[in-house]
Amino acid sequence: MWWKRWWNGFLDLLFPTPPRCFFCQRPLSSGAGQTCLECLQRISHSEGSLCRRCGRPLLGEEYCSQCVGYSWAFSQARSVGPYSGDLRLAVHRLKFHNDRSSALLLARLMFQSIESSWWPDVDGLVPVPLHAERLRQRGYNQAELLAYELSLLCHRPLLRLLEKPFPTPAQSGLNQQQRRRNMRGAFRVIPGSEEQLVGKCLLLVDDVLTTGSTLDACARALRQAGCADVRAVTVAITNRELIPREGAE
Ligand SMILES: [Zn+2]
Ligand SMILES: [Zn+2]
Repeated sequence: MWWKRWWNGFLDLLFPTPPRCFFCQRPLSSGAGQTCLECLQRISHSEGSLCRRCGRPLLGEEYCSQCVGYSWAFSQARSVGPYSGDLRLAVHRLKFHNDRSSALLLARLMFQSIESSWWPDVDGLVPVPLHAERLRQRGYNQAELLAYELSLLCHRPLLRLLEKPFPTPAQSGLNQQQRRRNMRGAFRVIPGSEEQLVGKCLLLVDDVLTTGSTLDACARALRQAGCADVRAVTVAITNRELIPREGAE
C-alpha cells in the first residue's frame, strides 16, 4: 500500500537503520564498506598464492595447469575470490534476479581486487556480450551491469565494443579443449568501433572465469582488431579441479 511505503520511508528518515554487511547482515561500523572484514576475508583469495596469469588459487607453483602450455589472448586475469559459498550466491543474485545492489557491491570488490598499478594503463572497460536472444530472455547483461558500476569507480569509459553474433552451445559438461573450440570465433568487434581500440589497453569484465575460454575468445577478437593489451577481471574463478582436462569425458 502506498501510505505504508511512505510511512516506512518517513521512519527511515527519522531513525536511519545502520548499514549492514551484505553477506552476514551484521551491523557495520559507520564509514565501513558494504561487507564486514570477516566476510571479506572469507570470500576473497588468500594472499600470495595465485596463478600469475589467470589469478587461480594455487599451492606453491607460479602458473596453474590451465595456463601452462597455452597462450591466452589476455595478458592477465584477476578475480575477487573462488566461485563458492556467499560469493557464488551473490553472483546468482546478480545473474538471475537482476539485483543491482549485488552489482554495486561486486564491482566494488572487483575494483579492490585489481592491483592499483593496472589502472594508469587501462583505457576502457569492455563487458563480455550476450547473444541477442539470451539478452532478450534475461532482460539485461550481468557483465554490463558490473562493467558499468566498475567504470564509475575507476573513472574509465564503458566501451561496448564486442558482440556475440551466434548463440553457442552450453559450456557445462565440456572439457577445456571443447570449450575453447566452442568459443572460437564466437565474439567479434562491432563493425565501426575499431578506432576506439587500436593501440589501447582494455579490461574485459565478466562474472565468472571457468576455463577462461570465453575471455580468451573476447580478447582474441580485440587483439586481432588492433588492441595492444587485454586484461580481464571477474567476480569469481572456479576451482581448476572441477574442470575436466583434455581427453577427459
Ligand atoms: Zn559479514
Ligand atoms: Zn592460471
